[in-house]
Amino acid sequence: MADNRVVEGRMVTPKKLAELIEGESVMDAEPIEDADRTCPECDGSVLAVGYMPSVTAFVTGYKCQDCSWSERED
Ligand SMILES: [Zn+2]
Repeated sequence: MADNRVVEGRMVTPKKLAELIEGESVMDAEPIEDADRTCPECDGSVLAVGYMPSVTAFVTGYKCQDCSWSERED
């Protein structure tokens, strides 16, 4: 799948990336995008993914490709 990206050395799908950020399973996720920012921890590239943790919620999550840093925005 073209949407898959490498995060912390592992290939992840949008849904898997969202689950890494959320810390639990999510209902659905949009394609992964490059966020226009760098990681505050290691200056690495940051990915963004929009996802639905539940039926009524939509969150934008950010995850560093090189370290465990992540952030979510409701
Ligand atoms: Zn980082």
